[in-house]
Amino acid sequence: MDDLAIGVLTLQGGFDKHMEALKKLGVNPVKVREARELDAIDGLIIPGGESTTIIRLLKNFGIYDRLREKIENGLPVFGTCAGMILLSKGIDSHPGQETLDLMDFRVSRNDYGRQIDSFDATLKIEGLGDEPVPAVFIRAPRITEIGSSLEVLSLYDGSPVLVRQGTMLAASFHPELTEDLRVHNLFLSMIVQ
Ligand code: GLN
Repeated sequence: MDDLAIGVLTLQGGFDKHMEALKKLGVNPVKVREARELDAIDGLIIPGGESTTIIRLLKNFGIYDRLREKIENGLPVFGTCAGMILLSKGIDSHPGQETLDLMDFRVSRNDYGRQIDSFDATLKIEGLGDEPVPAVFIRAPRITEIGSSLEVLSLYDGSPVLVRQGTMLAASFHPELTEDLRVHNLFLSMIVQ
């Protein structure tokens, strides 16, 4: 694993904890803030944060087009929370907000209860054994519509919260905020097959 270079998009949001999780798994995290840095990585994590800000910075820093192209051509990607919003094909709650339009699902932002901003849950995740996986939801997006090419790896409150489409993985929650490294490990297993 130590020869893998996994990029973490560090434009805005909670990238530090993802970098720590990767290090614990023996992987080299690489900060990505410029388009040319996308050429030197084997996979990319798009962290949580503020999806409107991240998309604006991707455009302003001239990364948006190159990033789409790279992912479409097979660069494995894992988006968490705001990262999931960016990978979606559209946002029901904010129809005017642009996304990367790469995965075949739609979301609604901040859609798990209006009054509670964050909560902890445990999830049963396909392929990760019987032991439930702890998950932290923070103003999380809810998947509202999903295409048939997607694999639903976990459900919570009746909606998919972890989905995979080829080499793309998206989570509504924050696996990097727990000690459990199994979801990051799942992403790495999609790269080293
Ligand atoms: N609510 C944020 C958004 O819509 C996402 C929250 C998160 O990434 N923790 O962009």
